[in-house]
Amino acid sequence: MSRLIARQAGSAEPIAINDDVSAGECRPGCGACCIAPSISSAIPGMPDGKPAGVRCIQLDENNLCRLFGDPRRPAACHRFVFDADLCGTHRDDALARITRLESLT
Ligand code: SF4
Ligand code: SF4
Repeated sequence: MSRLIARQAGSAEPIAINDDVSAGECRPGCGACCIAPSISSAIPGMPDGKPAGVRCIQLDENNLCRLFGDPRRPAACHRFVFDADLCGTHRDDALARITRLESLT
C-alpha cells in the first residue's frame, strides 16, 4: 500500500519479487502491507474493504498494486509508507510485524 509500491505498480515493466533486501526502502513485490492489515474503505472488487490477513484483490501476481494512479485507490493505501520498524528486512518479517500491530489495534 505504500507510495513506493504504487510507483512500481505503475511501471510497464514486470518487476521480479524481491523479498530479501536490507532495510531502508520499500521492497518492490513485497506486498505485505496489502495483505496483513485490514482496510475499512471500499476497494474495487472488495466493496466492504478487506479483513486483516486477506490478500487485496488489486494486488497483482507480482505483488504490485493494480490501482496506481487510479482515484479509486483507497486513501489508506496512500498513507501507508515504508517504515523500517514495520517493514523489517524481509517480506515475512513485514507480514508478521504488521499482523502483530493489527492484533493490538
Ligand atoms: S488497493 Fe490493494 S493492492 Fe493497491 S495499495 Fe491498496 S491494498 Fe495494496
Ligand atoms: S510492507 Fe513495507 S516493504 Fe513491504 S510493500 Fe509494504 S511498504 Fe513496502
